[in-house]
Amino acid sequence: MALIVHKYGGTSMGSPERIRSVAKRVAKWARAGHQMVVVPSAMSGETNRLLGLAKEVQPAQLDAAAMRELDMIASTGEQVSVGLLALALQAEGMPAVSYTGWQVPVKTDSAYTKARIESIDDQRVRADLAAGKVVIITGFQGIDPDGSITTLGRGGSDTSAVAVAAAMKADECLIYTDVDGVYTTDPRVVPEARRLHTISFEEMLEMASLGSKVLQIRSVEFAGKYRVPMRVLSSFTPWDIAIEEEATSGTLITFEEDEKMEQAVVSGIAFNRDEAKFTVIGVPDKPGIAYQILGAVADANIEVDVIVQNVSHDGRTDFSFTVHRNDYQRTSDLLNQTVMPAIGAMQISGDPKICKVSIVGIGMKSHVGVASTMFRTLSEEGINIQMITTSEIKTSVVINEKYMELAVRALHRAFDLDAPQNLG
Ligand code: ADP
Ligand code: ASP
Ligand code: MG
Repeated sequence: MALIVHKYGGTSMGSPERIRSVAKRVAKWARAGHQMVVVPSAMSGETNRLLGLAKEVQPAQLDAAAMRELDMIASTGEQVSVGLLALALQAEGMPAVSYTGWQVPVKTDSAYTKARIESIDDQRVRADLAAGKVVIITGFQGIDPDGSITTLGRGGSDTSAVAVAAAMKADECLIYTDVDGVYTTDPRVVPEARRLHTISFEEMLEMASLGSKVLQIRSVEFAGKYRVPMRVLSSFTPWDIAIEEEATSGTLITFEEDEKMEQAVVSGIAFNRDEAKFTVIGVPDKPGIAYQILGAVADANIEVDVIVQNVSHDGRTDFSFTVHRNDYQRTSDLLNQTVMPAIGAMQISGDPKICKVSIVGIGMKSHVGVASTMFRTLSEEGINIQMITTSEIKTSVVINEKYMELAVRALHRAFDLDAPQNLG
């Protein structure tokens, strides 16, 4: 008998029929003798709908008090899901009980809309499991030290599931979603993308942080920190598929480098359309300039990603960086109204229509020329690279958003990631 955590995403929970199918699948695992904890998301579209309502009521910039209420609102989507899933399990003749994050409790800090889990009290859950019940816990949320409800950032149910698995030392955390595993790139953008049987934890971490939303990055961080065995698989296989087959399907996240079966130089391609670029033009090239620009941006709580400073001409230089697209207007106002006059820059230019495309692979550590293959491929497609950033296992470029799909497809081909053609 094992302790297993299942997580079901929004599409997997998207209708009463889908929820009944999830219940049948979970009941199958429970009847096979496993202790089951299930962490569902809100039904698909529900979190967007709830946040849309909030925006209709209060469209302005939100302060901390308003962010608290956003979490109060957004958390309800998952509350409905857990109740529905518990009902569906009971209808299957399987004892089940549902809890919200605050009932468990899942304790977090107070960073509303992006709270971090600090601890999980598993006493209540263990008692229910011992009594033979399936325990269903809301994804995406917890409670802060003041007793306020918090949420964990979009896609946060993945993190809830892995955190529960870590806290309870579960034997495995299975992330059920609407694709059958982690692919070389988003299969909805590149149909030739291939499913990976395994992906190393380090690569998964990079893929998630660079924009592959198949897993929320914090869930991967948790899995790494607590060594939670974790697999991504489909909730759209027939629910009554044999457990042995199901348990080996999808993509396993591995922690040992040498466990990796597919030793490609580049394992995957990630992309992110959520960024915007700013260039501060004609900055006097003297010590302290980067600090004056980026310090002001950081003080306004705006996160910066890629940074490039050009060589100087005639004592002046250009300084570019990217921020989240949601912060575009705020950053633009800050640069134009405060930073430019303070540092004597000549002009600010902003471009919200950019994207970041990244190649990721552990094999890059030991291969030279990988980045240059990337640059050559993009140049052959006539795509101009605006910024470049590299680390040991990834190279990212910032390009015009309109070339994103073209770039991803070309790179996918160039690094031999396309699925083998059926020449039949
Ligand atoms: P869930 O609601 O189950 O959490 P998400 O929409 O958050 O599902 O994540 C699954 C989606 O992630 C897929 O539908 C797919 O379009 C997208 N995705 C992006 N990159 C990848 C990738 N490398 N492999 C698989 N799916 C990916
Ligand atoms: N329902 C939340 C969201 O849409 C959390 C999740 O689905 O993981 O972001
Ligand atoms: Mg998700």
